[in-house]
Amino acid sequence: MNTAKEGFKIQETTNFTENVAEIEPTLMEMTTEDTTISIIGVKTTSSYHACSACGKTTEQSGKLLKCNSCKLRQRVTPESKHWFVRVFAQDTNTNTNFYLNIFHQQLVKLFETKKKQLHAVLTEEDLGDILTEIDDLKITYNLADGKLLHVN
Ligand SMILES: [Zn+2]
Repeated sequence: MNTAKEGFKIQETTNFTENVAEIEPTLMEMTTEDTTISIIGVKTTSSYHACSACGKTTEQSGKLLKCNSCKLRQRVTPESKHWFVRVFAQDTNTNTNFYLNIFHQQLVKLFETKKKQLHAVLTEEDLGDILTEIDDLKITYNLADGKLLHVN
C-alpha cells in the first residue's frame, strides 16, 4: 500500500517546518471562540516603533529610526509607536478569567470602541487606565494561544 500523496515533492516532505507552518492556520481557526469580555487588569505592556513605509520593526539610528527590513531612516512619529499588551480578562458569559494577548492592529480597533486614539497614548499607565475601563466588549479570540483575533 502506497499512502504517499501524488504530486507531493520530496523537497516538501523533508522540510518539516514548512509543512507545519502551512497546517497551523487551519488548526487555529478551529479553536476560536466568540464571546464578550471585560478587561480586569494588564499583565504586560511592550512597545516598539514600526516603519512608516512597510510596518516592520525598526531600531534606533542616531536621532532617527532605521527599518530592519526596507532600511528607510525616518523620524519618530506618534503613529509609529506600536503596542503589544497581555491583559487579564473576564469572559462575561461564563464568568471565567483568562489571559488575552492583544497586538497593535486589534488594540487600535479596541480603542476606537472607546472613542480613543491609540497613538495619543504615551505611557503604559495611560494605556492601562483605558483598557481597564472596557466592559462588555464582543470579541473573537484564539483559545490555543489567547490571541485576540477580532473586535466584533
Ligand atoms: Zn520599512
